Amino acid sequence: MTRPLLIAGNWKMNKTVSETTAFIDSLERKLPGNLPLTVVLFPPFVALSSAARHIGRIQLGAQNMYHESSGAFTGEVSPVMLQGLCRHVLLGHSERRHIFHEEDAQINRKLRAALEFDLQPVLCIGETKEQRDGGHTFEILENQLTRDLEGLSVAQIQKVVVAYEPVWAIGTGDTATPRQAQEVHRFIRTLLENRKIDSQRFRILYGGSVKSANCRDLLCQPDIDGALIGGASLHVDGFFDIIQKSITVEKLGG
Ligand code: PEP
Repeated sequence: MTRPLLIAGNWKMNKTVSETTAFIDSLERKLPGNLPLTVVLFPPFVALSSAARHIGRIQLGAQNMYHESSGAFTGEVSPVMLQGLCRHVLLGHSERRHIFHEEDAQINRKLRAALEFDLQPVLCIGETKEQRDGGHTFEILENQLTRDLEGLSVAQIQKVVVAYEPVWAIGTGDTATPRQAQEVHRFIRTLLENRKIDSQRFRILYGGSVKSANCRDLLCQPDIDGALIGGASLHVDGFFDIIQKSITVEKLGG
């Protein structure tokens, strides 16, 4: 299997420019020379430029972007502006969907634009508590994936990373069990296989209250290829602890 783990920190609206560079300097010093996994940080937009000058092995991503490359879109940031600053971009995070009312059609436009400008999209999908309790998890995820990926070629989809983030688990301390998460990740991988994607080369991350105490059990699952971490990525020692534990993960059989 050729899927090195990806450990990502989504800082949301936290950390100033100087806090960002101090964190990066500290984490770069801690990381082992031979890093067997991918570490990505998603700082706020305003810190990306300084962060880009401090990274070594850490990769950077933006937390969002607009789909147009320039123009009269006050307050927005375009893929052209992100090029050269970062490699990844988070799209469809549940806070974007639920607080800022982003819909799948808009997320689809952003995905196309990210791919056009060679940014690596990390597409977040996930069900709410009501949807899970109502037995609609798989239907909701399939709908989100179908709408968000609409019109993309197999080669384009192959470049996307999906993050399964159950909305009820984000920032709540209420993590999906490894079994629940594995079941969904397997389902997503099967959906991709049905679309002729080489699913063995496709990374699917889990996000939702991942922390040092639960990361290994989640990452051991055969279809969980990494973690998208919010709260627990804000403290460098805690985040490094998760990275260290992830390095020791041995995959369970598929
Ligand atoms: C997130 O913001 O993507 C996230 C998973 O947050 P937390 O780890 O705090 O639940």
